[in-house]
Amino acid sequence: MRVYISSDIEGTCGLCGFAETDPDNPCSRYFREQMTREVAAAVSGAQKGGADDIFVKDTNYTGRGLIPDMLPPKISLMRGNANDIYAMMSGINVRRFDAVMMTGYHSPAKDDANPLAHNAVRHIETLKINGEIAGEFALNAYTAGYFDIPISFISGDKGICDMASELIPGIITVPVQEGFGGATVSISPSEAVSLILESSEKSVKDGYYKKCNVKMPESFEIGVSYESRVEAYRNSFYPGVIQVAPKKIRFKSTNYLDVLRFIHFCING
Ligand SMILES: [Zn+2]
Repeated sequence: MRVYISSDIEGTCGLCGFAETDPDNPCSRYFREQMTREVAAAVSGAQKGGADDIFVKDTNYTGRGLIPDMLPPKISLMRGNANDIYAMMSGINVRRFDAVMMTGYHSPAKDDANPLAHNAVRHIETLKINGEIAGEFALNAYTAGYFDIPISFISGDKGICDMASELIPGIITVPVQEGFGGATVSISPSEAVSLILESSEKSVKDGYYKKCNVKMPESFEIGVSYESRVEAYRNSFYPGVIQVAPKKIRFKSTNYLDVLRFIHFCING
């Protein structure tokens, strides 16, 4: 069984400030270790549940969050940013995976459930998919859905775990922290690790992951609200984009790969 793990950092147990996510800042070391312990638990759980081929994507914004020698053997680890349209799901297209897992995930921008709530980049105010506030989780979940790969497990802040359960009713979640304004309240780091280990195993064992398909909409209407009018104007020239207000653009497609291309050039680019 092949498992793909997308590991972010802002939803790591205990983390509450952007400096703690920056590999070039010494205060990030402890949180990068905790991020790695959580990923290692997901890997070991997946292996206990029957996975024999595991691909881990480090999706810290630099792609350099994980401490490689703390990870278990028999995995492939992608570090850095490939700069392809799959972004935080880079590598998902290289082989046929059976299940996706997500660790360290966090609530989207304009959500109070994590003081570090953001989307892929921070210069947009909101991203909506079919009228609903969306962020990295939704974008990446639809990428898995596009390839018809279920998402069996997610850990991160409580807000994103609730959102994940709405989109994928069978998904097994481990909320490790909850946001209150500029603060987070977390469970103990060692408990986070043991819950992730148990739950990731359960999520793939005996084919459980097959209950975790992503419901794909028939069409996608993407609304982006930028912080700057200039940014909105610039991106209004992307093929198919309509500028609906000085700081807002809209893009529609029935093909999710077109959505990923739009995001790549108009949000991540
Ligand atoms: Zn993130």
